[in-house]
Amino acid sequence: MSPTEPQDNPLLATEGLPRFGAIRPEHVEPAIGHLIEDNLAQVARLVAAVDEPDWENFVEPLEELDERLSRAWSPVSHLHAVMDSEPLRAAYNACLPRLSDYSTELGQHEGLYRAWQKVAKRAPAYQPAQRRLVENALRDFRLSGVDLPKEKKARFREIASRLAELEARFEQNLLDATNAWEKSITDETRLAGLPESARALARQTAERKGREGWLFNLEFPSYLPVVTYADDRELRREFYEAYATRASDQGPHAGRFDNSQVMEEILALRHELARLLGFASYAERSLATKMARSPEEVLGFLRDLARRSRPQAERELAELRDYAREHHGVTGLEAWDIPYYSEKLRQHRYRITQEELKPWFPETRVIPGMFEVIGRLFGVEIRRSDEPVEVWHPEVRFYEIRDRASGELLGQFYFDLYARPHKRGGAWMADCLSRIKTAGREQIPVAFMTCNFTPPVGDQPALLTHDEVQTLFHEFGHGLHHMLTRIDWPSIAGISGVPWDAVELPSQLMENWCWEREALNLISGHVETGEPLPDDLYQRMIAARNFQSAMQMLRQVEFALFDFRIHHEYDPARGGRIYQILDEVRREVAVVRPPGWNRFAHGFSHIFAGGYAAGYYAYKWAEVLSADAFSLFEENGVLDPETGRLFRETILEQGGGADAMELFVAFRGREPSIEPLLRHSGIEG
Ligand SMILES: [Zn+2]
Repeated sequence: MSPTEPQDNPLLATEGLPRFGAIRPEHVEPAIGHLIEDNLAQVARLVAAVDEPDWENFVEPLEELDERLSRAWSPVSHLHAVMDSEPLRAAYNACLPRLSDYSTELGQHEGLYRAWQKVAKRAPAYQPAQRRLVENALRDFRLSGVDLPKEKKARFREIASRLAELEARFEQNLLDATNAWEKSITDETRLAGLPESARALARQTAERKGREGWLFNLEFPSYLPVVTYADDRELRREFYEAYATRASDQGPHAGRFDNSQVMEEILALRHELARLLGFASYAERSLATKMARSPEEVLGFLRDLARRSRPQAERELAELRDYAREHHGVTGLEAWDIPYYSEKLRQHRYRITQEELKPWFPETRVIPGMFEVIGRLFGVEIRRSDEPVEVWHPEVRFYEIRDRASGELLGQFYFDLYARPHKRGGAWMADCLSRIKTAGREQIPVAFMTCNFTPPVGDQPALLTHDEVQTLFHEFGHGLHHMLTRIDWPSIAGISGVPWDAVELPSQLMENWCWEREALNLISGHVETGEPLPDDLYQRMIAARNFQSAMQMLRQVEFALFDFRIHHEYDPARGGRIYQILDEVRREVAVVRPPGWNRFAHGFSHIFAGGYAAGYYAYKWAEVLSADAFSLFEENGVLDPETGRLFRETILEQGGGADAMELFVAFRGREPSIEPLLRHSGIEG
C-alpha cells in the first residue's frame, strides 16, 4: 500500500502523540492537502446544514476541524525546525501557500461569517470564555474585510496581496544588501581586540571562500564583535557605516538595494487598508487585536518611560565620556565608539563574564532546580514520564506535569536540549497538542521545549551560561502558559488568542527567578563541588545586570515611538515623512544622536517586513507587565506558594479566555504600573 493512503498516513491519526518513528516527508503533502480539502468541505456542509448554529452544533465542530489540522501540521513544522532535510523542507514549503490560502478562504467566507453572527446572538447565555471566543471570531472576520461592499472588498484583497509582496521585497533588499558587503583583512594587527571566537569565524568564512586571511561580513555574529571589540577605530567606523546604511540611498552601496520607495508604498497601503476597515490609522488597526486600548495610551506609556529614564541615561552617557577620556584619552565619542568603550567600561567596573559563571550552572543542577522552583510556586510536579513515546532523536526526553495536590495529569512536554546539525538555533516553545474538551473527548496539552545548549562532553554535564539559564526559564514561562491552561477550546486555550503585547508576560516573569538568591540556591551548584553560587560573584552579577539600562531603555523607546508615530500620523497628502518623524523622535527621547547619513529605518524589518508594525511597543509593554507581576512576589516572598497559585489561576490557566487587562487586574489587584520595571532596571526616574 502506498504511503498516500489515508489509513497509513501517521499524520492523519486523530488521537495520541505524534508518531515520530513513522512520520516521513512523503506523508506531509498528502496529509495536509487531504485535511485542507476535507475541512473546507466540512465547513461548507456545516454552513449549509445547520440552521440554528450554536455552541455544540457549530463552534465545537469548527474547533475540532482546526485541531485536527494543527495536530498534523505541528509535528511537521517541528521536524522542519529540529531535523531539517531536503525532502522535508520541500514538503514543508509546498504546504505553506496552501495553508495560507486556506486561512484566507475561511477568513472571507461569507456564509461562515453569517453563521457566526447567529452564534453571537446566543452569546449572552454563554460563559465569559465562550463569549470571548465568539467576539474574537467576529473581530477576525471584520479585520479580513468580510463585510465590506463588493468594490471595497476587491480593493482590500489587492492591497493585502501587494503588501505581502512589498514586505517580502523589503526583506529581500535588506538581505541582498547584507550579503553584498564584506571586508577581507590580511594584516593581523588590524584584528587587535577581537575575541578568539570572532577571529575563528572570520578565518573559517575566508577558508570557505578560498580566500587569504580573515573575511568579515554584516551578519550579526560577524558584525557585532567588530564594533564592540576592535581596537582599530577606522575599522569600526567602516563597519558601522556599511551596516547603518544597508538597503538605502547612503553608504558604500548607495541606491543599489534602496528600500526608500518600498517603505513609502508600504505605509501608504497600510493606511489605506486601515481606512477601508473604518480605522483612523494603521496604528488603530494594530491595536484592534492588542491589550493596549488606544493610540493615546501607547504614546503616553512610551513617553512616560522616556521621561523617567532620560536623566539617568544622560548620567550614563556622561560616565562613558569621562571614562573614555580619562582611561583612553579619547574625546568626541562617535556612534562607532559607543559600543566599544561601553564594553571596556563594563569590564573595568564589574570584571564578570558569562564564561566565568558556567561551572555554577550544570544542566544536572539547573533543570531539577527549575522544576523545583516551578513546583513550589505553582503547585505542580514535573517528572520524566514512564510512558513509552516515539521521539525524533535519542537525546529527546519526555516529561509530565501533574497537579501536586490532586495528582491530575495537566500537560506533557518533549525536551530537546542540545545543539546539533540540522537543528535551528535559539530556544523556543511550540504547541504540539492543544487542550480540547468537548462532548466527545478530552485531550491534554503537549509542548515542544527546544534549546540549543552545548552538548555534554565526556562525563561532564552540559554547563550553561547565566544567559542560557534565563532563556530556559523564559521558554518555560511560555510552556506553562500552554500546559497549565484550563480552557477547553484550542483557539483560546494556552497562548492562543492572547494578545501579542501580553503573551510575553509569563515568559518574562519567569526570568526574574534567575536573579533571586533563594532560587539561585536551588538552580546553581558548582559542577565539581556542588557549592551554590558564591556571594561575591552573585553581587557582581547583580551589579552588572543594569549597566547602561537607562540608555538601553531609551533606545527601545525610540524605536517603538518611531514605529507607532509613522503608522499613526500617516497623511496621504504629505507621505511617510519617515526620517522627519525619526528625527523628531530622537530629539524628543534619545541621548545618543547618530550621524545624519544613518539609515536605521531602511533595515527595520520588524516593522516593515514583520508582524511588529505599530506593535514594536509590545516588547516594553510586556516587560512592564512582567516586572509589575513579579513585584507582587517580591512583596509576598519570591517563592510564596499563595502568590504562585494566584498567578496560575488568573493568568496561566486562563489563556486567551478573557480580556488581558482584566486578567492582569485579577492577579495584581490594579492596572499595571511602570514603577517596578524602572526599579528592576535600576532607573531612579
Ligand atoms: Zn518569548
